[in-house]
Amino acid sequence: MAENFKVTKAIDFCYGHRLRDYDGKCKNVHGHNGRAEFDLTSAKLDKRSMVVDFSDIADAMRNWINNNLDHAMLMRKDDPMLPIFKKNKQPCYVMDNNPTAESIAKLLFDKASEHGFPVAEVRMWETPTSFATYRKQ
Ligand SMILES: [Zn+2]
Repeated sequence: MAENFKVTKAIDFCYGHRLRDYDGKCKNVHGHNGRAEFDLTSAKLDKRSMVVDFSDIADAMRNWINNNLDHAMLMRKDDPMLPIFKKNKQPCYVMDNNPTAESIAKLLFDKASEHGFPVAEVRMWETPTSFATYRKQ
């Protein structure tokens, strides 16, 4: 039977957002203390008997999150409030789609992949009881 190892790193960060074309509470500007969980998998371990060193994924993704998402407003590109936030020098991260937990999970999956990590799944916790998952089939 083939072996498969998985390690998971969680990274906490704060973000603001609001959803467009949506009629619930989340149409209003608000914030979350979110948690991203990165699952990395490998059929083999490296010379250190690791899938990936926890500190490597932590350093890379925490750095990217700190520079792009942490304490920033995540906004859909056509949000009419985007120019106002930018004009007032508020940090914004512009997304093609609504900045839902699903969209953030996919974004973080893609960024971890671009950094060369063998990411299998990202779970984005928007609240302690709600999370979205993105993985490639
Ligand atoms: Zn929200």
